[in-house]
Formats: sequence, C-alpha cells, structure tokens
Amino acid sequence: MTDTGSPREKSYRFLLRLRPRVQPYRSSFLWAALLIVVGTVIGLAFPLVVRELLDAAFLAGDRGMLDRIALFLIALFLFQAVVNLGQSYLTASVAERVVADLRKDLFRHLMSQPPGFFARKRVGELSSRLASDAGLVQGILRFGVPELVRQGLFLVGALILVTITHPRLTLVTMIAIPPTVLAGWLLGRRVRRISTGIQDRLAGAVSRAEQVFTQITTVQSFTRERWEAERFRQEVDATRDEGLRRAVARALLTGTVTFTAFGAIVLVLWEGGRLVLEGALTPGTLVAFLLYAVTIAGAVTSLAGFWGNLQEASGAARRIFDLLDEELELAEPRDPTPLPRPVTGRVEYRGVRFRYGEELPDVLREIDLVLEPGETVALVGASGAGKSTLAALLPRFYDVREGAVLLDGVDVRELALAELRSTVGLVPQEPMLFAGTVRENLLYGQPEAGVEALEEASRQAHAHEFISRFPKGFEQEIGERGVTLSAGQRQRMAIARVMLKSPAILILDEASSALDAESERLVQDALERLMEGRTTLVIAHRLSTILRADRILVLDQGEIVADGIHRDLLKESELYARLYHRQFEQALASSGVRSSDVAAAGKR
Ligand code: ADP
Repeated sequence: MTDTGSPREKSYRFLLRLRPRVQPYRSSFLWAALLIVVGTVIGLAFPLVVRELLDAAFLAGDRGMLDRIALFLIALFLFQAVVNLGQSYLTASVAERVVADLRKDLFRHLMSQPPGFFARKRVGELSSRLASDAGLVQGILRFGVPELVRQGLFLVGALILVTITHPRLTLVTMIAIPPTVLAGWLLGRRVRRISTGIQDRLAGAVSRAEQVFTQITTVQSFTRERWEAERFRQEVDATRDEGLRRAVARALLTGTVTFTAFGAIVLVLWEGGRLVLEGALTPGTLVAFLLYAVTIAGAVTSLAGFWGNLQEASGAARRIFDLLDEELELAEPRDPTPLPRPVTGRVEYRGVRFRYGEELPDVLREIDLVLEPGETVALVGASGAGKSTLAALLPRFYDVREGAVLLDGVDVRELALAELRSTVGLVPQEPMLFAGTVRENLLYGQPEAGVEALEEASRQAHAHEFISRFPKGFEQEIGERGVTLSAGQRQRMAIARVMLKSPAILILDEASSALDAESERLVQDALERLMEGRTTLVIAHRLSTILRADRILVLDQGEIVADGIHRDLLKESELYARLYHRQFEQALASSGVRSSDVAAAGKR
C-alpha cells in the first residue's frame, strides 16, 4: 500500500470520486460557494476603497470623506466576518458529513469481507484508513477546497484589477510569478514524496506496536521488550529524520516563495514610488496597487502550499477507495433460497475441494460427508490436516473450490448469509470477548433476548455461578478481549452466548490445552447441554468428546481416511490409534483421569 506519487491525473481521480458523495449536501455546498465568492469580492474591493480614502484625505483634503469611508470600511469588514463565519460553518458541515459517510461505508464494506481478507491485511493499516486517511480527506474538503477556490478567485480578480489600474506596474509584479510557481512545484513534489514515506513507515510501526500490545505475554515471556523497543525506535527515528527532511523542504518552499513575493512588492514600491514622485500616480493608487500585489502574493503562496496538501489528500482518498473497490470476496446470492422450515440441521459435504489461494496446495480433497440431524461428529487429525478449514466452509467463511456444502439440502452459497449464519453456532478454541459488560457480551448474538433467557442460558452454561459472584453481576465490565476472566470462564461465556442464539448446527473447536479438573468438568457439562439436539461438528481435543461422539472422522492431509466409532477405529485405523495414543493419553495424564478409565473406554 505504498503511495509512490502516482501521476497526477490518476491520483486526482480519487478526489473527484468524492463528488457524488457531496451530492446529498449540495445545497450547503452551493451556499458555501456563494459565500466564498461574496467574501472574495469584498476582499477585492477593499484596496479600491482604500485608494478613495487616501486620495480623499491627502489630495482633496476632505476630512468628512475620510470619516465616511472609514466607517464604510468597518461596516464592510463586519459584513465580511459574517460571510466568512457562515461559509466556514457550511464547508465544515459538508466535510464532516461526507467523511462520516465515507467512514461508515468503509467500515460496513470491510466487515462484510470474510476472515481470509483480514488474514491478508494488517489490522493497523485498516484502522489507519478509517482514522487518519479519512481525516486527511476531511481536511482537504474543509480547508483545502474552499481555500483553493478563494485564492484562485483572489488571484484572477487581483490580476485583472491591477492590470486595469496600471499595466506597467503589473508587468513588474509578474516577474515574481515564475520563480514562485517553479519553487512551489519542485519543492512541493518533494514534500509530498517524503510525506507518503513517513505515513507508510508510521503505519508499519504502529501496526507492529498493536501486535506487541495484543501479544504482550509472548513478548514478555521471551523478554523481547528491548528488541521490540529497539525496532520501534528505529522506525520512529527514521520517521523523525524524514520529518526533519520534510521540514527543510517545507522551510525552503516557504522561504523561497516569501522572498520572491516580498521582492516583488519592493520592486513595485520602488517603481511606483518613482511614478508618484513624477506625479504620474496618486499615492492612493500606489497603496491600492500594493495591496493587490500582497493579495496576489498571498494567493500564489497558499496555492503553492495547497499543492502538497492536495497530493496528500489524494493519496489518502486513493487508499480509501482502493479498499472500497475491493470486491466482496463472498458474494451474497442475488436471489437467496429460503431454508425449508423447520430447520433440521442436516449437513452434507459433497465432493468438496478447497485451497486458500490459487498458487497454494489443496487443503481439502474429495471430502464427502453427511451429518444427520442431531448427530455429533468428531473430527480428529494431526495439526494442519485441515480440520478447522473443513469446519470454516460450513458458515461460509470461505467458499469451496469444487463440490458443495449443503444445509438441509440447500447449497450454502444459495442461502442468505444472515440466515446461514444464524443457523450455525460457533464456539471457538479461544473465545474472544469485547470490552464491555458481561451482559453485552452474552447478548452479542441475540441482543433482543430477555432477562430470563439470559439467565437461563448462563445457568445452562455454568456461567451463572461466577457471574453472580461479580460485584456488579451481569453489569460487570470485562477488560478488552476478556482478560479479567479465566480461560474456563471465557469458554463458558462463549457457550452461553451460543446457547442464547440457539442454532440448529454447532461447530465446536475444542480448546487443545486442558483446564484444571473442576473447570474442565463445568465446561464439558455446559458443552454437553449445548450440543443436545443439535447437529454438532466438533474439532476434538478431548477424550470424553470422542468417546461421546456418534462418529469420528479421521482427517489426514485434507482427506477423510477413516470414519467410525472409537472402538472400531482403534483397531482399524493405524493413524487413529497413533493420534489417540499421542494426544489423548498425554492429555489424560495431565488432567488426572485414571488410566483404567481409558482402558475401559478403549474396550467399549
Ligand atoms: P487443522 O485445523 O487440522 O490444524 P487447518 O485447517 O487449520 O488444519 O489448516 C490446514 C492447512 O491449511 C494448513 O496447512 C495450514 O497451513 C493451511 N491454512 C490454514 N489457514 C490458512 C490461510 N488463511 N491461508 C493459507 N493457508 C492456510
């Protein structure tokens, strides 16, 4: 996502794409434009009034005229202040609303992307699109565009007026324009290049910092704090150095532009002063002329500065539109098939083949599988065998490459995503909770559920015990990512959350690390209640689970190599026997189950 200063036609296109987004606020926009024009006209009239004032005072010696003109000027500026106030409010309101819309659209679009999309992107980058890039676009709409119009009008208006007033002096003024524009263009380009570099670098550093914060235990357990700090330091120092380079370029830009502008003013003063001495020019006209020259210089300066801002904002707009343009990777069916009611929860994988990317190997091959309603099927296999992938195809986190996944006989791709996902409940291995209260977290999938349902679900999930011990009960705030809860409590919360949603089908990714015996028992019990009457696909890590399962599927390198119950598989499948001994006996040893139980189970 590096903006390497694309050609300007290309990058302006992205700012122009804001046009339809301004459309709904057209009337505010047009009023603001009108007020800008009025404000500019007043600004342009000012030197002419000053000329009258000075000439009246000095040439005609008319004291009354002087007073009247001074009063008129005060009234004029008061009016201009009101005009500017209104214009400033109107442009702000358009900019705020357009950017708020843009942020909302972007967030909505991003949220509809499947998990694979987020696996490929850096989360820090996405957040900076929402925050700082949108902020840059807002800045250009709020200040940049009005300033461009105002200064453009000032420049054209003042140039016309000075030309009318005194063509010769105008020529003198013009001398300053080419060097100013050249400096603005060259240095402005440099400023912009550096700015983009700084933003990319900073985004990288911030994204790393975010990763460090979320994985702080990993960092600290490996005592990599110093190394991370060093890495961060390097990035920040590099940003600082770039920032200093940008400051030099900006200072050069401002310096050059200011010098040429004031140089021009001195030239005018010198040449004009001569003309006044010769009697060819009134002092009032000279002052008016100078005021115009200052206006022109100011306009040129701010237009030159505007260049850099414009480029910066175009880059930001481009990054936002790039994300908005990314097609949704999972298309909602245009004309979704409704699920036949009542939902029975029959799941079928028919000749499914899947890989994560075109150039990546197949992760699943020829998967044929039926889960009858209410059946519990345990998936076992070595790590990387494709268990999670197989499960992820059901709620359509990814789409199959070949074959189909069917729910009650309907291809999941033909179902409305919302309907599909309300039918499938997910208890992940390491449930994450949001910062907020216990209640908010439990109601996450079912916000309209009543108090009774909430309490019943938490009771069923053995969550009620610990929730009622919280000082504030259901209103207890839990830290971001649920850090104030133990692993077992988080799992019970996750179970209660799915219990409330009451899906016909359940995907269970068992935690691979055992909890302490008591916690384990509570979680197991909660899970059993949850699984009751639901079709369940469980990625099994616990012996009790595979013993209870109606069927066990052994997955090896993306293929189902055995299918049966524990006792048979132990005899028939060498892979299963091996996995079983390695994985479950170890787990048993640590969870304190007597080995005679295992032996008994093995004989079952
Ligand atoms: P399991 O759950 O059995 O441990 P997974 O389904 O997680 O296995 O992974 C199966 C294979 O797919 C692994 O080789 C893994 O590296 C690969 N894989 C998993 N997720 C992704 C992904 N998002 N992008 C690319 N490859 C992936």
